[in-house]
Amino acid sequence: MSVFQAFACMLNQHQPLRRDVTWNGRNYIGVCRHCDARIERIGRRRWRRRKSEDAGEGQPTPR
Ligand SMILES: [Zn+2]
Repeated sequence: MSVFQAFACMLNQHQPLRRDVTWNGRNYIGVCRHCDARIERIGRRRWRRRKSEDAGEGQPTPR
């Protein structure tokens, strides 16, 4: 991982693993290729970390 990308991830600017990007009905979601964070697309080439409560599949939230 480059130093620049480490900073970018700290600033919540991630880059997805393209083969892992999927459409969940509302957003494109994926995994950051650098820090493995679960991320969602918020615009052209803009990805941010997903909140844990948005994690969705497999993790039912108790009310
Ligand atoms: Zn990242």
